[in-house]
Amino acid sequence: MNRNGNALFDPKLENYLRDAQTSQLDELSEWLRIPSVSTLPQHKADVERAAGWLAQKMEAAGLQNVEIIPTDGHPIVYGDWLHAEEHAPTLLVYGHYDVQPIDPEELWDSPPFEPTVRGDDLYARGASDDKGQLFAHVAAVEALLAASGPLPVNVKFLVEGEEEVGSPALTAYLPAATEKLAADVCLVSDTHILSPDQPMIIYGLRGVWAGEVTVKGPSQDLHSGMFGGAVHNPNQALCSLLAQLHDSAGRVAVPGFYDEVQTLTEEERTALAQVPYGETELLQETGAPAAWGEEGYTITERIGARPTLEINGMWGGFIGDGFKTVIPGEAHAKVSCRLVPDQPSPAIGPMIEQFLQGIAPPTVEVSVNTLQHAPATVVPLDVPEMRAAARAYKSVFGVEPVFSREGGSIPIATVVQESLGIPILFMGFGLPDDNLHAPNEKLHLPNFYRGIRVGIALMQELISS
Ligand SMILES: [Zn+2]
Repeated sequence: MNRNGNALFDPKLENYLRDAQTSQLDELSEWLRIPSVSTLPQHKADVERAAGWLAQKMEAAGLQNVEIIPTDGHPIVYGDWLHAEEHAPTLLVYGHYDVQPIDPEELWDSPPFEPTVRGDDLYARGASDDKGQLFAHVAAVEALLAASGPLPVNVKFLVEGEEEVGSPALTAYLPAATEKLAADVCLVSDTHILSPDQPMIIYGLRGVWAGEVTVKGPSQDLHSGMFGGAVHNPNQALCSLLAQLHDSAGRVAVPGFYDEVQTLTEEERTALAQVPYGETELLQETGAPAAWGEEGYTITERIGARPTLEINGMWGGFIGDGFKTVIPGEAHAKVSCRLVPDQPSPAIGPMIEQFLQGIAPPTVEVSVNTLQHAPATVVPLDVPEMRAAARAYKSVFGVEPVFSREGGSIPIATVVQESLGIPILFMGFGLPDDNLHAPNEKLHLPNFYRGIRVGIALMQELISS
């Protein structure tokens, strides 16, 4: 049924979907019980077990050529179904079966690896990010094959176990596997929608640069009584340098930072203005006393469509209990940027370093060390696959999706888009309060079942795009 209670699919498929709900929930819960925490070495065997569970489920669902591909890190799981009519498009479904660590464990209301239903929600680590969302697409394929016959499109699944640690193995694997993974469009359900009844297509994700700034002064920590006033304190120098990274209008002051940034088109500004999120919602959600940001841009534009620079952490000198009158030898800051399309992510670190070295006084030495970078992704709004995605959402939810650009980054999405040269549809069905990466992660079950229906509707809509 869609939300108006009308049957969306033929009766056989509708009956199947109604009857399968319990087993779909049971199976997902079984998968969620496997603690596939990719970043913790003690869970390596669990991560492998989660890959094996998925491969078995994919086979049971009717997918073929299912493989667990070993890598230097955690395995990649692949499976396909390639018997659609001639000229039918191929849909590549990307997802990940690894999860974030659970700490602080004491803040969970039920154990993170004992999936628990409370009200309309299923609580477990990975319920929304990303096992639940990925499972829905396997279930969609299974439902169609079981109750409706051949799939309308060819389907390939590419599921990794390292998304939460930066996708190193998949990044290395992709360039050599472009033929095997060749497809017309990629579907990623690893994002959230606005509310249970308002679907949203993310058509842009920001890229990222992250690094560390080090300010060096004297060769060792000094006594402030003996040297204070005569040696420049690196903490003080760091603060004054970091304070100059933005101007008074909230713009990043690093020369060259905005050089390649595309101007927002009127079409995009209009689309972004439809997203019902503004200062009121921002203040409510964050508890911040007032909004801040780049002048001339709305909150939604600042979050998703403009680049930013943040100081994530600062340390240096003595920060223990009590007091120590010290002039530290070094001071440090973690700095990161969210990037928009066309900003060259590898160039950001050197750009910041050059700027800071240029304004640093001769009393200290500054260096910037890059830790991570990935460019932004943007999908054109006017491609036929995007219109098919919008129709699929609308048929299930009964309302048109809004289009938005997300503030976060899924670095592997850019790699997929670039190596395969296909558009990506970010069609999530998580919710903003799913507590991703936090205690009490949950999946809103009505949306899980809608997610399965959206997956089916998308396969059907792609042949009429
Ligand atoms: Zn995820």
